[in-house]
Amino acid sequence: MKIVFVASEATPYIKTGGLGDVVGSLPKYLKKLGLNVSLIIPFYHKIKEKNLNLEFIDEIEIKNEEKNYKFKILKDKSNFDFDTFFIENDYFFNRKGIYNENNVDYSDNYLRFGFFSLASLNFSIKNLEPDIIHVHDWQTSFLPIFKKTFFNINIKTVLTIHNLAYQGIFNKDSIKELGLPEDLYSIDKLEFYGNVNFLKGGLIFSDFITTVSPTYSKEIQKEEFGFGLQGVLKDRRENLIGILNGIDYDYWNPEKDNMIYKNYNFTNIELKNLNKELLYKDLNLNFDIDKPLYSLITRITSQKGMDLILEIFDKLMELPINLIILGSGDKEIEDKFLELNKIYPYKFHALIKFDEELSHKIYTGSDFFLMPSKFEPCGLSQMISLRYGTIPIVRSTGGLRDTVIEYNENIGCGNGFVFYDYEPYELFDAIKRSLELYNNKIKLQKVIKIGISSDFSWENSSREYLKLYNKLINK
Ligand code: ADP
Repeated sequence: MKIVFVASEATPYIKTGGLGDVVGSLPKYLKKLGLNVSLIIPFYHKIKEKNLNLEFIDEIEIKNEEKNYKFKILKDKSNFDFDTFFIENDYFFNRKGIYNENNVDYSDNYLRFGFFSLASLNFSIKNLEPDIIHVHDWQTSFLPIFKKTFFNINIKTVLTIHNLAYQGIFNKDSIKELGLPEDLYSIDKLEFYGNVNFLKGGLIFSDFITTVSPTYSKEIQKEEFGFGLQGVLKDRRENLIGILNGIDYDYWNPEKDNMIYKNYNFTNIELKNLNKELLYKDLNLNFDIDKPLYSLITRITSQKGMDLILEIFDKLMELPINLIILGSGDKEIEDKFLELNKIYPYKFHALIKFDEELSHKIYTGSDFFLMPSKFEPCGLSQMISLRYGTIPIVRSTGGLRDTVIEYNENIGCGNGFVFYDYEPYELFDAIKRSLELYNNKIKLQKVIKIGISSDFSWENSSREYLKLYNKLINK
């Protein structure tokens, strides 16, 4: 069976969040199950800079009313895990950012990702002959729309929703500019409150929809989490499932990770402390090493519960803890963290940037990881934390609910701390419960052991995708 993944980001080439992790790792595990998998992503400036070993494969031309666009197809000759193709068009992709610059989205994102999707579809049909094309989020939702509109071919499409909050909403003219028929602008197709919603189109035109955790697949059918698309999702519920994301256990592996200071596993878990010490040294921090380190590695957006953290911040700083945040996003919230950094320099450190290597060092050096998300389609950071022996503290929503269970000392099970209502004092209570655990070293070891030995690899979830693909092509 031949599967083509089409997406806007993938590790190790380019990543802004969990989407990149998933798209970069799942194909590897599908390949292990015997599938023939290829990946297509845009050739961004940041990928160009890597000077990869590339092979020219083909050129695709796309015309709309105004212009002719040329897209070169390049193949990464050094990726032996699976075939990776880049779509090159300097006008669209040789820019500083991926989706935006200085926090402002590129206004022609519908053309950038619309034509990228169409070029990927044309190339796939011509050169790859897939059974299934698997697209991800709004950026590639254009593909099932183009396919059903212009091609009468037996290729199935699967759309995975990694985050329903981002939908690709543009004005009405975008349909015409992309060369799509104007009758797509109707309530049962792409129209959305006077605009065009390309994710909505993807949900309607794809053969099957998945999302990244079982709980999120139910939540998005309700108003609270549906961002206006709950009706469409409900209509398609027979063709919608939630498959829990995994993480790449080869890449996120404390025993082999070459980005951390000292490798370790549960048998020498005390090396976590040495990692913490070296992290403080690297960052020039005068933190008390005996106090637990709590951390956040996150996009700084309201989705991630930043307001809860800010509301309890002063109270948090009264506790015997240290706190590090590594993240970027909303400028206003970033500035608040930088301000707090000045007030509490001996307990709190804000690193406002995206830094993969540093993220590994922080996962390793931390005792607890905070994820007080308002909503969370799946969440990878809590799984990465568990893998590194760092105990997650999460709000019970989406994939967090499917992966973290409150520690119960009576029955000795659970891998973290969980709170339910989106309320600051609930988060604060959970942190206080974790602090109690920290003071009981025997119980602490027990919870770390449960976490570090749990299995959130792709081994199980990739099989779920295989089952789905089989069902689809035999339909
Ligand atoms: P989301 O996809 O919503 O951002 P996930 O928890 O699914 O959240 O995935 C986030 C991924 O991005 C994780 O691999 C996390 O380590 C990484 N990440 C988030 N922010 C940063 C940052 N500032 N620097 C490095 N890695 C980050």
